[in-house]
Amino acid sequence: MTYDFLHTEIYNTPCPNCKAVSFPITNKNLSKYFHGIKMNCPKCGINLDWWSLLLRHFEWESPSYVYGIAGGYTTSLRIFMKAGEIYSLNLEEIGIPKESKILQISYTPNGEGVFPVELHGNTPQRHYIPNIIHLYGRPFGKPSNETPVAVQINWTEKSNDNQVWENIINAVESFTIKNYDSCIIPSNVSVESTLNNIMTRYFSSFAAKKRVEDFLSNGVTYSYQLNILLPLVAQSNNFPEMPENIRGNLNKLRSYRNSIAHKGKTDIAIDKKTVSELICSAALGLSYLNLLEKKISEN
Ligand SMILES: [Zn+2]
Repeated sequence: MTYDFLHTEIYNTPCPNCKAVSFPITNKNLSKYFHGIKMNCPKCGINLDWWSLLLRHFEWESPSYVYGIAGGYTTSLRIFMKAGEIYSLNLEEIGIPKESKILQISYTPNGEGVFPVELHGNTPQRHYIPNIIHLYGRPFGKPSNETPVAVQINWTEKSNDNQVWENIINAVESFTIKNYDSCIIPSNVSVESTLNNIMTRYFSSFAAKKRVEDFLSNGVTYSYQLNILLPLVAQSNNFPEMPENIRGNLNKLRSYRNSIAHKGKTDIAIDKKTVSELICSAALGLSYLNLLEKKISEN
């Protein structure tokens, strides 16, 4: 396969004012947000509020912007295709680890001659993007000897906390296909399980693990963990409180989750704006919890 590798970068969010500068969506930047440290655009000077910066990603229709809030990378390259021929794109060869989850791929021909078409076997696999893709160069427009095609791949790395990220990614996937009800349970699971794991580890240094597990599953359940234990643990570790709007939305998410789990559906249909705020809160809530746990381990 012939290609020009351009770059792999972490997702960025553009300045809402000048759009000339983009900022990487990293735990480092989110840590500043949670600590109330002001960030300004170096070009136009506007104050950057990470909540509104990330919420915008849900308004933009392109799924790759929505995946931006779930963490991960964008790899860009240019391949050279010939009409009527097959090009095999091997993602591992361009540096995307084999175990990664491929979220989305786009192909943009830079000129006429070819339009890439993904090929499949006699039973096409749905909802799964493999890491080797066979592209047929469908003749398109004015014939050309060779057509450069810009390829952009959105992907995330597998990690130890894989199930948690897979849940938030599943929520984003449902969002991109406008299946809003299906966003609720995975968003909630991702935060609830992360919080429960952190609390189990934290309190296990004060009591036997079995007793702690019983305490958290039968006594202090998720709502109490989120609204009472979490602020207490944060404060005693000299870490800022979770922003009020995020905690409020996580409570809202929990009640939607309960409606779905108990009644099979929510009382009122969930609209795009509401679900955007809920997923955004789950993603920011996860970052908050990861940063808190890091802080606890350093104490
Ligand atoms: Zn700016």
